[in-house]
Amino acid sequence: MPRPYILAETNWKHLKDESFDLAILPWGATEAHNYHLPYATDVIEGTSIAEESARIAWEQGSKVIVLPTIPFGVNTGQSDIYLDMNLNPSTQFAILKDLITVLNRQGVKKFMILNSHGGNNWKAIIRELGLLFPEMFLCVTNWFKLGSDSGVFEKPGDHADEMETSLILHLTPELVLPKEDWGEGREFKNKIKAFSEGWVWTERPWSKVTQDTGVGDPSLATKEKGETFFNLVCAKMGKLLVDLSNADINDLYQ
Ligand SMILES: [Zn+2]
Repeated sequence: MPRPYILAETNWKHLKDESFDLAILPWGATEAHNYHLPYATDVIEGTSIAEESARIAWEQGSKVIVLPTIPFGVNTGQSDIYLDMNLNPSTQFAILKDLITVLNRQGVKKFMILNSHGGNNWKAIIRELGLLFPEMFLCVTNWFKLGSDSGVFEKPGDHADEMETSLILHLTPELVLPKEDWGEGREFKNKIKAFSEGWVWTERPWSKVTQDTGVGDPSLATKEKGETFFNLVCAKMGKLLVDLSNADINDLYQ
């Protein structure tokens, strides 16, 4: 049966008399994830988390709708990795402006980007869109930020690491290469120490900072850890969707 909270599955018969409070847009990337994970890793994660979180919220009566996932992200730093696809931030702005124009006109006044890729940076874009659409409530969530405090993983990394490998082992195990093909995910650090301290930033040319395109050791990943973490993220995200759906956007602060 088509799920009524997934736009790509539902239909006009159902939607002609329906109205939603909150639209959720999962946004991924198409890029190498170490040797062993699919290029669509971020798309699979974002789509699965959005759909399961929306199910949780829908079953509590929240009027939420998941839009189709945008499969390309900002990969300006991965231009040296074969077929890592790139959308520039200015293109992301243009896409969002068009989509939010539809929602705004049709009265879906709350909008959330469910971001699934670390190279996508949304604050500047949301600030600018907020000025253009004063009636809209715009926000972004980065589900992967829940990883380090989850207590599920032993070796935190940031790309194709224990967390992402565990998730894909849980969600689409048929797309993960056997363990003997997993790279070690070693990161080559900038020689200037300040860059490791986090108060100065430069884009990292990916072929210079990794050997296998991974950053973070995947060796302790298991599908059980993936399932535990997935359920934990979706429970938290589902609660957020309920809260956003119920909230009066003109009375958010106390
Ligand atoms: Zn990823």
